[in-house]
Amino acid sequence: MKGIFLTLFALLFALFPLSLAACGASSPDSYTMVLVYEPATRTLAGEMTVRLENRTGSAWETVKFQLWPNAFREEAKYLPVSEAYAPAVYYKGASFGGFSLTSMEGGEARVAGEDENILVVTPPAPVYPDERITLTMRFTVLLPEIEHRLGVGQRTVNFGNFYPILCAWGEGGFCEHVYACCGDPFVSGIADYDVTFTLPASYHVAHTGTGTRTEENGLATYHVRAEGVRDFAMVCSEQFTVHTSEASGIPVTYYALDDADPARTLQVACESLSYYADTFGAYEYPAYTVVETGFPYGGMEYPMLSLIADDLPVSEVPLVVAHETAHQWWYVMVGSDQYHEAWQDEGLAEYSAALFLEAHPEYGRTYADMIASSERAYRAYYSVSSQLSRGETAMRRALTDYTGDYAYRSLAYDKGVILFDRLRQTVGDSRFFACIKEYARAYNGKIAPAEALVSCFAARAPQAEGIFAAFLDGLCVI
Ligand SMILES: [Zn+2]
Repeated sequence: MKGIFLTLFALLFALFPLSLAACGASSPDSYTMVLVYEPATRTLAGEMTVRLENRTGSAWETVKFQLWPNAFREEAKYLPVSEAYAPAVYYKGASFGGFSLTSMEGGEARVAGEDENILVVTPPAPVYPDERITLTMRFTVLLPEIEHRLGVGQRTVNFGNFYPILCAWGEGGFCEHVYACCGDPFVSGIADYDVTFTLPASYHVAHTGTGTRTEENGLATYHVRAEGVRDFAMVCSEQFTVHTSEASGIPVTYYALDDADPARTLQVACESLSYYADTFGAYEYPAYTVVETGFPYGGMEYPMLSLIADDLPVSEVPLVVAHETAHQWWYVMVGSDQYHEAWQDEGLAEYSAALFLEAHPEYGRTYADMIASSERAYRAYYSVSSQLSRGETAMRRALTDYTGDYAYRSLAYDKGVILFDRLRQTVGDSRFFACIKEYARAYNGKIAPAEALVSCFAARAPQAEGIFAAFLDGLCVI
């Protein structure tokens, strides 16, 4: 089996010749990948060509990429899961993975960063504003045996955050983020993806984007494209059942494992996609996929693809699917700094789920229930937190500054829901929904600073600014 894979890998490389620095008219950044997964060795082999344009005002002496797979290596300083979750997700005990660069064309590469989390590429000459650069790299990723964003689980293989992705650009240059066991430490811009992925034909793959599957000699090859997305992810399994429907003309697919009611889960995905499109603005991609998989935190969002955990209680499925689907607006289309302002997308996604459930009482959870539940949870957290010397009430903090999963959940989700409910009560439905729509429209395809969201509200309701400040700084009483 291994020989077949290596031969195929060499063939695929031959079909996709390397290219070096290019220039020309402005076009979207792009990632072109040729990937082969070998289950026996838990290894993904890849060749990736990245075409980038310097849209910043500074010359790039180096180009930096996040190396998220290295968070799973044995020596990692910033662990991908907290101690509380580790026993459950490492279902066979400790297991490790990591990223190895085989070659780089278009610049000199080295692995750096605080936790070997950054791939630094030095091109032969600086890349000046409006200039373009093309890099081609070959690499392998060893997947740990873990039920997490990247790993071989008991029934599925998750490929989240598996390849080098361009660091977001900040005031000080490329932002370098270490992994965080609380929250989603991923901040990235928009790009086009063209991915060719080969693995044994016994597997089926849920993925970002749309494309085709072909089979030959016991292998399946997916050729997938996705335009204008922030990331690319896949989930593979030999056990999926596939369920399809549509939402306002968008094909929606649900890859299920042993969901007791897959039709209902698919229905929530379709109805929430339609509801958000009506409420916030159009869903701009040609398809949407939900996949059931081994995952510790309920769900996880990727562009055009939502993961939901395979151990969700039936009663929680509508909320989780509605929350993850809302991330297609709050994270995918409207980006934000998830590392320092987790409340901005998580609070909005959870609050959006409350709005969806308000509009769909048949799922058994009312809007009032959702708000009351968030208030109860936050007050319980506050009573514990305030008795500790380090009482945490401010919502603006880096993921690494949360004391744990409980504080993260309470501040980014529960307090976020309360914030948006208070805003709605204060400014009224008409202005509230106008503000949200304007935020979705104005920052589609961008990374919106927190101040942008505040400004969208303040422009229509000046009192909103004080409400945001009181919540974000942790001074309000709930
Ligand atoms: Zn979320």
